[in-house]
Amino acid sequence: MLAPDELDLPIRRALPELARGAAALGRLGIETVRDALWYLPFRYDDFSELRPLGDLAPDEKQSARATVASIKVEPGFGRRPQRVIAQLTDDTGSAEAVWFGRRYVERRLQTGDEVIISGRVTQRGWRSQFTSPEFSPVGRESVHTARVVPVYHLSSGVTQKRLRELLARILERGLPAIVDPLDASERDGLPGLADALRSAHFPEEATDVTSALDRLAFDELLALQLTLAQARVARASLRAPVIDVDDADYAAIVGALPFDLTGDQSRAAAEIRADVAREQPMRRLLQGDVGSGKTAVAAIALASAVRSGFQAALMAPTEILARQHHAGLAPLLEALGVRAEFLSGSLAARRKREIHDAIAQGMAEVVIGTHAVISEAVEFPRLGLVVVDEQHRFGVGQRAALQAKGSGGEPHVLALTATPIPRTLGLTVYGDLSISTIRELPPGREPIRTEIRDRRALPKIEAFLAAEAGEGRQAFVVVPLVVESERLEAASAEAEAERLRAAWPDLRIGLVHGQQKADLRDATMSAFAAGEMDILVATTVIEVGIDVPNASVILIEDAERFGLAQLHQLRGRVGRGRHRSFCILLSDATDDLPRRRLDVVRGSNDGFEIAEADLELRGAGNLLGTRQSGLPPLRVASLFDRRHVALAQRARTLAEGVVDADPDLARRPLLARLQRDFAPLEDEGDAA
Ligand code: ADP
Ligand code: MG
Repeated sequence: MLAPDELDLPIRRALPELARGAAALGRLGIETVRDALWYLPFRYDDFSELRPLGDLAPDEKQSARATVASIKVEPGFGRRPQRVIAQLTDDTGSAEAVWFGRRYVERRLQTGDEVIISGRVTQRGWRSQFTSPEFSPVGRESVHTARVVPVYHLSSGVTQKRLRELLARILERGLPAIVDPLDASERDGLPGLADALRSAHFPEEATDVTSALDRLAFDELLALQLTLAQARVARASLRAPVIDVDDADYAAIVGALPFDLTGDQSRAAAEIRADVAREQPMRRLLQGDVGSGKTAVAAIALASAVRSGFQAALMAPTEILARQHHAGLAPLLEALGVRAEFLSGSLAARRKREIHDAIAQGMAEVVIGTHAVISEAVEFPRLGLVVVDEQHRFGVGQRAALQAKGSGGEPHVLALTATPIPRTLGLTVYGDLSISTIRELPPGREPIRTEIRDRRALPKIEAFLAAEAGEGRQAFVVVPLVVESERLEAASAEAEAERLRAAWPDLRIGLVHGQQKADLRDATMSAFAAGEMDILVATTVIEVGIDVPNASVILIEDAERFGLAQLHQLRGRVGRGRHRSFCILLSDATDDLPRRRLDVVRGSNDGFEIAEADLELRGAGNLLGTRQSGLPPLRVASLFDRRHVALAQRARTLAEGVVDADPDLARRPLLARLQRDFAPLEDEGDAA
């Protein structure tokens, strides 16, 4: 049995008998015993029920207990691999099992053996056939058969079977060393940690998985809430510059805008005004759909900071977005006599130095650039306000880091996001932020028309894109999402661009994907924005922000693969100008749920309504491996699972109690450890 501190040793040292397996695990990023215990399956096969052979159902994964009546080996021939075929019988009937090119099967299986066999069954003529099933002798426990079997993400050099065996052995040795950081009352009905880990890998019954994953999710959410609670406590003692513009000045700023604010914009601007006039640093999230006018609200805040004698910065996630912000804001601010500098990694070294100097001397009033560039810039002597565009590129850790910057007190921070978050979620995930919401669009917008079509309609759709191009409009074509591999996604984008170029040689077709260098990607998007291309084939890298008012159509392929919020974001790439705009969701999905999800997007142009519906429609059972833009990258917990949202609220209450009593977690080293282990991963972002 291992001691608790041995959990952090490399596997080959803690468990020398598994040294050979350790190399294979290393390829999966599993170094220590602890890593292995938390390497969770992404799904399970339920082989727990034993079926009589006479009752096997075709096309299902099943288990049976049977006797091997005969076994034969057919040699390989040409391209055909060797096959091992076993005839199986029980009291109710017979079946066949086939393995391809698996020599070990022949050695391990003999006529007369009684075995438990688990795998997919297909109907071959009049008989049922197990194809490459797992098997184990009756009476000998197996982690592969006759139970709920975990299925893990693999990499080359490790099989599912080998990984399962290794993890089973590591669990057996490692779990006794687990000390639960929570006591029974804190767990409040959730299983203990060691039990949860055991059941998450090798549940006794399928129903154990849910409570096991709930517990692990709770720990992860608790880590997040501890961080948020500490940030809140720390902030209470900080002082911020007081940005206080009188009513006349404020009216002058608002009056200098070229339009009247909508009601929601006025309200948001007033909330910000009240916040920044306090001594406590503001941490406010301004959320609203693309085009709802968040930038205008930010402009008021920036101008107010400058009027009060402070500097301000606006940070965007990419260079192209920073450039667009500068282009949009500079004239608004200029009307108020405020100068906005653009600071970018691509500027000439001399120009950059000039701006750095201007910042350091307090001459630069408003600086607009990417997160990276502004963070590395010299300190602002009088930084009063930081506006961060696209909150989801701005993780909890960065929020905490900004707090540590700034010299004349902590700057106020306003984060803008177009990813709407249902209220229940916002409070739990952004518990350290206040939230302002813009739901009302500026007047005169024509809603985007959204249609769902299947692949048969593709030729017509493409003709439509070409016709729009003929009218001088532009279109986006978004290729299917491949969550597992950005490389595959890029390849499919390339193939699609090639196909379109071949089919429509007169159209100018560009391509952007995540595997390209940021420079190339930015150059292509800028060219598209400048009208130098008709169609931009893209992966979801275009999701955030880019503004091309002349684009009137977006075609999204295999739309059912995207999250609803993501579809809505993508759709927001069009309808930004005065042209009638269209969103075409291409999908061959016929199942009820995907259809209903797509119908939600077709039926609503309101990001909040869509986010709520998404939360409603995504059930449990979707716990692992979902990528949700806009939310912190959680590993176990899913904020689209109502149970987990409730868990997040519980975690928040617990975290606040713990942190109030013990802000540094000095008396709770296991919780401090938990917090470190589950520290929210910073998104890598694509900031240049
Ligand atoms: P967001 O940043 O939320 O995506 P923007 O602030 O860029 O939206 O606004 C989108 C467009 O709408 C801009 O062209 C902006 O000038 C315009 N706009 C913003 N607010 C109003 C308003 N109250 N009335 C008319 N047009 C507006
Ligand atoms: Mg914007």
